[in-house]
Amino acid sequence: MEKVTRRRFFLSTLAGGVAATATNVCGAIWPNGKAADASLAEPKALQTASAAGRLATAGRRPCIISALNGLHHLETGMQVLRTTGDTMDAVLAVVVPVEDDPNDNTVGYGGLPNEDCVVQLDACVMHGPTKKCGAVGAIEKIKNPSKVARVIMERTNHTFLVGQGATQFAIDEGFETMSLLTDKSRTAWLAWKAATSKDWRPGLDAPDFNKQLAELLDTPERQAWEPWIKDVVAHPPTGTINCLAVNEKGEMSGVTTTSGLAWKISGRVGDSPIIGAGLFVDQEVGGAGSTGRGEENIKIAGGHTVVEMMRRGMSPTDACMEAIDRVVHNYDFDRSRLKMFDLQFYALNKDGAHGAAALWSDRHDGETISYAVHDGSGPRAVACTPKFEGTGGDY
Ligand code: ASP
Repeated sequence: MEKVTRRRFFLSTLAGGVAATATNVCGAIWPNGKAADASLAEPKALQTASAAGRLATAGRRPCIISALNGLHHLETGMQVLRTTGDTMDAVLAVVVPVEDDPNDNTVGYGGLPNEDCVVQLDACVMHGPTKKCGAVGAIEKIKNPSKVARVIMERTNHTFLVGQGATQFAIDEGFETMSLLTDKSRTAWLAWKAATSKDWRPGLDAPDFNKQLAELLDTPERQAWEPWIKDVVAHPPTGTINCLAVNEKGEMSGVTTTSGLAWKISGRVGDSPIIGAGLFVDQEVGGAGSTGRGEENIKIAGGHTVVEMMRRGMSPTDACMEAIDRVVHNYDFDRSRLKMFDLQFYALNKDGAHGAAALWSDRHDGETISYAVHDGSGPRAVACTPKFEGTGGDY
């Protein structure tokens, strides 16, 4: 009984307290005529989407966009577009430093591990000029899955390698292996394990629970991680980086790379490496990518959906919102379940117009969910158009 009490205390301590409220601000109408939430007044988000769409229609080339974690690398990508104009080099110039960054815990090195404390990475690339693509799923020990995806695209007759075969392929192609765990990601996994397993901290005979936690966070540096660790245990983070580029001539490429959902089941592959879900590029129209809960995106083939909507004439933002609406429809507009995840779509059309839509307006840290853009006048963050006000990922 004593053990259960301590454990509950541990769980509730870790669970922290993010109790966000959500309000439907869009009130969209699904094509079957069913109102998403007809009782709600002015569809604020829809207005924003249309406004952003109109703005975005007047796009500029070259242009490069990414999830917000690429903001500080867009300038490098733009330099590539301005010099060689190679769109694949440009998007990789943005995402590879994020894969290398131990402090980005959703991509590459330092990405949060799966439930077995193994970092498994997913990525894919699409190259508009050659209409080729490559992808890797659940690759281990290789910090740059985006580069491996490119090699698959350029040097093989295949498009998608997974698991051990993908890792072996990368080794054979000269990629170096390394542990992708950092002290921070490993410590977070230990805290998650303790919160979800009866056999990991605190031990059955632990005299004092708080001492156990203190032992886990036994240096000043680790103590500074405590709020973050509590948050990632309570709300397994989503992240990922998607990057899309169009050069002056209208050539396009895209990439999506991720460590996937934290604490996932070993072997789980999300949307990120799936062509047509986490990424789709057809340079006759545009490109699209996604971050957030991959399982929902896979069910609607989101990347492909967004590009096809743009083909039919939608603005990038409206096309992204169409994909979000399909996910909302899959949940029969049940916001209590939709609140359990977050999802974003990003789109860039061949003219350099861009846009993005998010299921929820805010991240857990209170920041507005945004994406990064560089269309010639320096990198900047732009708010994604939200379907609902509030935060997702509350499970
Ligand atoms: N979409 C990624 C996945 O489902 C996760 C994320 O974007 O955070 O693996």
